[in-house]
Amino acid sequence: MSVVVIGAGAAGLHAARLLRDRGQQVTVLEAADRLGGRVCSLDGFAAFPLELGAEELHGERSLPYRLARARGLPLRPCRERLHLWSDLRVGRRAVLRDDDPDLDAALRFFDALPAYRGRDVPLAQALAPLAPRAREVLEAMVSNEYGASSERLGMAGLAAAEQAWQKQGSRNYALVGLPLLTLLAAEAPPVQLQKRVAALDWSGPEVVVTTRGGERFTAAQAIVTVPLPVLRDGDIAFTPELPEAQRYAARTIGSGPLLKIFLRFKRRLWPQRRSALTILGTPCAPQLWSSGTWGLRADDVLTALVAGAAAEKLLALGTQALPRLLAELDACLSAPGERAASRSLAEHFIKDWSAEPLVRCGYSYPTLGSAPLRADLARALRQKGAARPSVAFAGEATHERLFGSLQGALLSAERAVRELIGDAVPRPGANRGASMKECE
Ligand SMILES: Cc1cc2nc3c(=O)[nH]c(=O)nc-3n(C[C@H](O)[C@H](O)[C@H](O)COP(=O)(O)OP(=O)(O)OC[C@H]3O[C@@H](n4cnc5c(N)ncnc54)[C@H](O)[C@@H]3O)c2cc1C
Repeated sequence: MSVVVIGAGAAGLHAARLLRDRGQQVTVLEAADRLGGRVCSLDGFAAFPLELGAEELHGERSLPYRLARARGLPLRPCRERLHLWSDLRVGRRAVLRDDDPDLDAALRFFDALPAYRGRDVPLAQALAPLAPRAREVLEAMVSNEYGASSERLGMAGLAAAEQAWQKQGSRNYALVGLPLLTLLAAEAPPVQLQKRVAALDWSGPEVVVTTRGGERFTAAQAIVTVPLPVLRDGDIAFTPELPEAQRYAARTIGSGPLLKIFLRFKRRLWPQRRSALTILGTPCAPQLWSSGTWGLRADDVLTALVAGAAAEKLLALGTQALPRLLAELDACLSAPGERAASRSLAEHFIKDWSAEPLVRCGYSYPTLGSAPLRADLARALRQKGAARPSVAFAGEATHERLFGSLQGALLSAERAVRELIGDAVPRPGANRGASMKECE
């Protein structure tokens, strides 16, 4: 049997590897001139590769972590010392401690999320009764991490996701000194780059895929792994067209801007410790962390992750965005009037994922009412009476609970492969045919 895989990000590469290992003839078509999609690194900026997209492997029971272990890649746990920007600004340099009443309230809210069974209301509404400092923590650790403002996130989708994340293990890990792409590219079949798929015809006995350049590829089946906005915007013309339920899901599940900003300073502005400094809640950037302390050696780089309305605001500031962010860091990292951050900035780099033409967002997020729609988005296309589907869908947005992650992307690839060839998919450390529940 032959399968064409569209997209060579985490999901596409994993699906292609599994298919090849099961004796399928695989063709992988990638529109970009590189592998990895939302996994790609920046070399030469720091003493080690900085990840422009995914950076951490979430949980020691997750598939990315287990694959990294199975492939013998060096891993380190990520440790954080949390600071609130508002505290640093008023001179309270203390690390947020578990006995801080607002952090305690924030953590209790977070811990209760998986058990939330109330109405699907916006996260902002659920946060409203909390004290402002507790909200600041949760806006950074929940809204920003889920890639949207708290007004746009639905509690039902967040609860479902947190239930699933609880089972992945409690620690996060990063590769030491190696780009994360090493994990994805290991043992992957060859990929045809710069093949931007424009049409997929599944009306006949074979699937016919046509690129923008007019090249045609035929196969018995296909797996589509393109990002949500690419599917939603109709970059690929399907014949017959996608069912309305699938198009509705693509329109309704959220996706928005996500920025990663790297700031390298001529000198370190924070104390060197074994664990990384994380600053939560600056108005410009809800989460900033010192990347260097997670790497092989301390470096003077701060990374900011900015999602949702904060990202929109920053983008709207244009050339004023950087001075504004630096002014906020001046206020919390230096003595009054010293302007340490502004004065000692050596270099900066901004990655705006919404401006990537082949991705157009950070990752998908749960809007109000969208929790049940992921299954519609993921539904395979099958001709009447056919034993197996012609087209399956994978990619982070198609995972019902672990969307927005490598784990979701890889597990969605396993599901898509099973849908097409019906084969149990073994994974490292698991018996062949082990239940999906193990990793979900
Ligand atoms: C800033 C940022 C930080 C993140 N941090 C983490 C993290 O720490 N941990 C974590 O687990 N996850 C993280 N993620 C999420 C993770 O990166 C994604 O969930 C995952 O990489 C998505 O993989 P994918 O295969 O679904 O999609 P992608 O990686 O986007 O792959 C889709 C591929 O399809 C290609 N494509 C698009 N259109 C076409 C077309 N017409 N024809 C052919 N090919 C096409 C694209 O070029 C792309 O290569 C982060 C993401 C971002 C953006």
